Amino acid sequence: MTSFHPLDTLRTSPGPKRPRRLRRTAALRDLVRETTLDPADFVYPLFVVPGDGVRKPISSMPGVDQVSVDALTSEARELAALGVKAVLLFGIPAAKDAHGSESYADDGVVQSATRALKDASPDLVVMTDVCMCEYTDHGHCGLLDETGYVLNDETLETLARIAVSHAEAGADVVAPSGMIDGMVGAIRTALDAEGLHGVAILSYAVKYASAFYGPFREAAEGTPAFGDRRSHQMDPANAREALREVALDVDEGADALMVKPALGYLDVVSAVRERFPELPLAAYNVSGEYAMVKAAAANDWLDERAAVLEILTGIRRAGADLVVTYHAKDAAAWLQNER
Ligand SMILES: [Zn+2]
Repeated sequence: MTSFHPLDTLRTSPGPKRPRRLRRTAALRDLVRETTLDPADFVYPLFVVPGDGVRKPISSMPGVDQVSVDALTSEARELAALGVKAVLLFGIPAAKDAHGSESYADDGVVQSATRALKDASPDLVVMTDVCMCEYTDHGHCGLLDETGYVLNDETLETLARIAVSHAEAGADVVAPSGMIDGMVGAIRTALDAEGLHGVAILSYAVKYASAFYGPFREAAEGTPAFGDRRSHQMDPANAREALREVALDVDEGADALMVKPALGYLDVVSAVRERFPELPLAAYNVSGEYAMVKAAAANDWLDERAAVLEILTGIRRAGADLVVTYHAKDAAAWLQNER
C-alpha cells in the first residue's frame, strides 16, 4: 500500500480522462449541449398554386401539399402556434411561357400569396424564391439562346423584375436561387432604385446540381423540358469554388447566404461559416433528403422523430443558423412537447 501525502495531488496526473462524467444524467447532458434546435431556426417552404380551396398532396413528399392562396391564412396560424417564424414561397403559375412572364406579374401567385400571408400574419417573415424555372414553359432558370443555353445577363433583368414585384407585394426577404452570375448585385440595384432598401437578399450562393431535388420538381412542377442545370448550378465535386461563389455574393450585397442541399454538403456549410462568419447562413434540407427519411419511416426502418431531430441538429452543428426544411412543422411540434 502506498501512503498518501497531500502534495502528491500536485505531483501526479489526475488519472484517466473520463468524458463520460458529463454524460451521466440527462440534466448534465442538457447543461453541456453545444448545439440547440429551436423552431425559430426553421424556414418552412410553401408551394402555392392558383385557384381556390386547393390542397393537393405531393406524392413523393408525404405531409407536404400544394396549396392555394386562400389556405395560407390557416398555414400562417399553424406556423405561429408552432413558433416557426419564416416561410419560403414557391409559386406554380396558371400559365407558363418562354419568358416566364407570370413570375413578375403583380397578380402572380407568389405576389398574391405574399399579400395574403402579410395580411393574416404581419409578423411572419415572408421569403420568396426568385427564379424563372417554375414559370418558363421550357423549365429552365432563365432566358435561353437558340442552343438552349441559359443566357446570363439577359436573365438578370427578369430576376430583378421578379424581386421588385415580390418586395412590392410585401416580401421581407427575396431569395435568388438560379446561380446566375451577378444576380445579387442586379437585384440589390433594382430594389434600391425602387426605394425598397429594407428588403433583404438571402442568396442561394452555393447551389449544387443535385439529384436530391427530384421530389421538388414534382412539387414545383419545374422539371426542365430538356437538358439539365449543370451550366449554372455547381458541380457536386467542388468545395473551394463554393467559397468563390460566396465571396462574389457578399461583395454584391447579399444579406444572408445559403448552401443547398444540406446533408451531402455539410463540409461546405462548415467552410462557409468559418470563412464568412459575419453573415447569417442558411442550409436547405432538400426534398430528396426529406423523402428518404419519410420513406424509411413509413417502412419502420427509422424512428422518424429521432432521425429528423438528429439531422437538423447536424445541419446546425455544421454551422447553419437557419434550416430551410419540410420537417419544420413536425420538428417544431416535437420540440414543443419536450419542454
Ligand atoms: Zn431555377
